Amino acid sequence: MTQPAQPAPPIPPPQPQPESDFYWEKCKAHELWLRHCKACDRTYFYPRDICPLCFSRDTDWVQTNGKGTLYAFSIVHRGPTPPFRDKAPYVTAVVELEGGARMPTNLVEVEPDPAVVKVGMALEVVFDDLTDTISLPKFKPAA
Ligand SMILES: [Zn+2]
Repeated sequence: MTQPAQPAPPIPPPQPQPESDFYWEKCKAHELWLRHCKACDRTYFYPRDICPLCFSRDTDWVQTNGKGTLYAFSIVHRGPTPPFRDKAPYVTAVVELEGGARMPTNLVEVEPDPAVVKVGMALEVVFDDLTDTISLPKFKPAA
């Protein structure tokens, strides 16, 4: 005897931390900002005060143009937990933004097919308004 299918629970939203409040506020405004290190002049993700590349504390925020390229991806055919169960198939990805920072994300508005999704493809950010306070940056093929 099978159980009736229950609706999938919602995706648990990220929990902003003091270091990332600014990042999430900007995402809510559909702007993608990164931490930038003034000592080594590189950007990085995830947002934190200390540069992970040279360990300097001389960092600030910079707004990106939201453009990048696909660095790596995987097509998920079985969601790992109930909130993702009904989303499959979907594309998880690491996107390299102009400036060099790489961020984990999802690709949207693209067929989840390895014949279509290609490392190096040009991408641009779009925002998924997950809750009243959280908008997740995701990427679609650049126009
Ligand atoms: Zn640095």
